[in-house]
Amino acid sequence: MGKLLYLDNAATTKTAPEVVEAMLPYFTEHYGNPSSVYSFAAGNKEVISKEREAIANTLGAKANEIYFTAGGSESDNWALKATAEAYADKGKHIITTKIEHHAILHTAEYLEKRGFEITYVDVDEDGKVKLDELKKAIRPTTILISVMFANNEIGTIQPIKEIGEIAKEHGILFHTDAVQAYGQLPINVDEYHIDMLSASGHKLNGPKGIGFLYIRKGVKIRSFVHGGAQERKRRAGTENVPGIVGIGTAAVRADKTMKERTAKETEVRDYLIDRVLKEIPYCRLNGHRTDRLPNNANFSFRFVEGESLLIMLDMKGICASSGSACTSGSLDPSHVLLAIGLPHEIAHGSLRLTINEEITKEDIDYVVDNLKEIVAHLRNMSPLYEDFVKKQK
Ligand SMILES: *Cc1c(COP(=O)(O)O)cnc(C)c1O
Repeated sequence: MGKLLYLDNAATTKTAPEVVEAMLPYFTEHYGNPSSVYSFAAGNKEVISKEREAIANTLGAKANEIYFTAGGSESDNWALKATAEAYADKGKHIITTKIEHHAILHTAEYLEKRGFEITYVDVDEDGKVKLDELKKAIRPTTILISVMFANNEIGTIQPIKEIGEIAKEHGILFHTDAVQAYGQLPINVDEYHIDMLSASGHKLNGPKGIGFLYIRKGVKIRSFVHGGAQERKRRAGTENVPGIVGIGTAAVRADKTMKERTAKETEVRDYLIDRVLKEIPYCRLNGHRTDRLPNNANFSFRFVEGESLLIMLDMKGICASSGSACTSGSLDPSHVLLAIGLPHEIAHGSLRLTINEEITKEDIDYVVDNLKEIVAHLRNMSPLYEDFVKKQK
């Protein structure tokens, strides 16, 4: 079999073997419904409490502030829609940013159609939210500020503590989509004044289809799924017990290994960034140079088409992402790259590489050596590049 280098860990991660192992008995042996009264199912109720507590501990939260969902998208939808509904009598204005994940942006658009006003705050050229703009956007009717902890495309980490303080000062709820940050960065909900936080299992070596929403005690929040009394009557449906065990195990594992793992990833990431910037001409790094996720690198190459780059990397066994929406057949470049000020033609030539703890410098050498050749090859076929070279002479 040929080489396979998986460098798309922002899209999803491998489920850790110990996570799979912890989950298995909840499919085959302990399959009882946690709501049943007989003792056969009693252990399942207990294991849910245990995992809820373990996750709460990683955030400095209380167990009864963690609500299990079917993933990051559901948590984001819930946070925005339920807050909008519960606080509509106070006001109908919500502040978010231009670089959020579509789970936030499309939910915001949905709310706009239902009479809410949304302000999409700008970011600077590194992808950091402009705090002065955020402050200016606040109105007496603002009920919620939702800003992602770290961006999934360019990796930039936001000044979450400052944003939390601004929200608190004005008595506005603060939600953060921490799907990329949770498990990679230390988070304490009290220190950062976070009222709601979204996370997802499959982004931290846990299973897909499970996530949670942290909701601070005292926040008025409506049920998201109506039905049974699960999740304190806020989110009905028989609990995904194997998934809950999976995300709990993954969260504890990520928390325990965070320091060592992210130090190693940061070193390999920086090696990758340095080599690419030094050895490939007409190339830029997108996102903040240092305030970025330990596993994220995002580049734009002039005179190169991102999709062609991905196909040629795939032929070398390298899984990467363009960081643009082109994959769905749409030709719109990424909203994040446009928000940091990249012109369309440069945003189109972008590449996101997201590593994990298993990726070594030797792997990076293989990637960069191939990337150099591929970029040169694609430029040689580009009439724009030909013109550019002629003009240089
Ligand atoms: C992946 C991702 C989501 C969606 O999470 P799912 O569990 O796949 O629904 C939301 N926000 C961010 C920042 C993400 O990276």
